[in-house]
Amino acid sequence: MKGFIIELRKAKNEDMIAMLLTSSYVGRYYRFFGARHSILQLGHLVDFQAEDDGGNFMPRLRKLSHFDFPWLYDNDKLLIWNNFLTLLASHLSDSNEINSFYYNLLLQSAKKWDKQNPKRIVCDSFVALLEYEGRIHTQDYCYICEQPLLDDIALMRAFIPAHSYCINETPLNKKKFFDFLKSKKSIYYNDGEIEILYNIIMKGL
Ligand SMILES: [Zn+2]
Repeated sequence: MKGFIIELRKAKNEDMIAMLLTSSYVGRYYRFFGARHSILQLGHLVDFQAEDDGGNFMPRLRKLSHFDFPWLYDNDKLLIWNNFLTLLASHLSDSNEINSFYYNLLLQSAKKWDKQNPKRIVCDSFVALLEYEGRIHTQDYCYICEQPLLDDIALMRAFIPAHSYCINETPLNKKKFFDFLKSKKSIYYNDGEIEILYNIIMKGL
């Protein structure tokens, strides 16, 4: 089975607990520390087998092999990738079975992570995810004061629109943003605007 390591936690004696996202489920696995074991790395895509612990504890990770992406050795790109995965891990932490949408979204993102600004990929992927979960907000009123939005808006967590003066955030053009939600393509945003959107995404899903 293939899966992305979306969370790593230390257990006792250097052992680790890994949360993996596969095409059909999110699972937690135990990994004993050992010289012969390859080191688990957050964000990596791995092929693995799960070995049941007789139902007493969480299954163990076995026969692990890593898939390579060239950008895994670029610290800046890896950091943005791991931030994105950490966001997803906390969003899906109570899930077991999941639709293949999430795995495919990560796989498609990973394949192009070094081909463009990765924060831009996060923005596009985030809108695709909100749409998949039916959480796109296109209402023409402010979430805080419930009055009509103006030409410029500001965004709350999960891209919920509000007046910039109601939430004290950087204003963005409303039409351009709603067009972005429709197209799920951020091509009309420059890297400075992408930075603003990315920082809002990092507030949580
Ligand atoms: Zn308002």
